[in-house]
Amino acid sequence: MTYSKREFAKDFKAQIDRGYNPQRIGSWAHHTYFHLLGELNEELEEVLEGLMVLEAGPEFELPFEEISALVNKLTEEGEKEDIGTPDLNIKDLAEDLGSHWLMCPLCEESWENYIEYAMVRCPKCNQKLHNPQSKNALQWTAESNFLKLWRYEIKYLPVLGYYLYAFENEIRLYTNFQDTWENILECAWEDFNVPKDLWKRDE
Ligand SMILES: [Zn+2]
Repeated sequence: MTYSKREFAKDFKAQIDRGYNPQRIGSWAHHTYFHLLGELNEELEEVLEGLMVLEAGPEFELPFEEISALVNKLTEEGEKEDIGTPDLNIKDLAEDLGSHWLMCPLCEESWENYIEYAMVRCPKCNQKLHNPQSKNALQWTAESNFLKLWRYEIKYLPVLGYYLYAFENEIRLYTNFQDTWENILECAWEDFNVPKDLWKRDE
């Protein structure tokens, strides 16, 4: 087990959130360093070594802005490391509720999401899920010619495959899933008579 950058940034932030006390942060760094030695990568080791000196006295204090910028940088990098690439071991996809809202299929928590990485984490159960709002997701839309209130969407998620959604009045009434583009087009044709040439790629 290694101590990930994400976990480290979270623990570090919790220290700052308790109020900026350089001595306490120094002793937290000291404790963490010796407690987790062997589970730390070189970079985190160096960060902790830098923070440990805060314990030595006021002359070693760093301005709050500097500490806070470091926490933010580590949080951002930790997040990218954690959810930046599609996880092949996970098959669950967060439900796209539209307008930047997602729902966890496992615990039904919903939340507002602006993360565009391949994965997201449910804020309630902490499960990693594929992100339907990922910047790598591709989407096609088709408007029905004869059913005016109906709209169809195909979404492609790397690693997972193709999803077909049908909406009536913007309410999703149907979902299907296929491995290939040919099969999902076939589904749209068989279930809704959506012809292949009606699909337009969303930009
Ligand atoms: Zn959840």
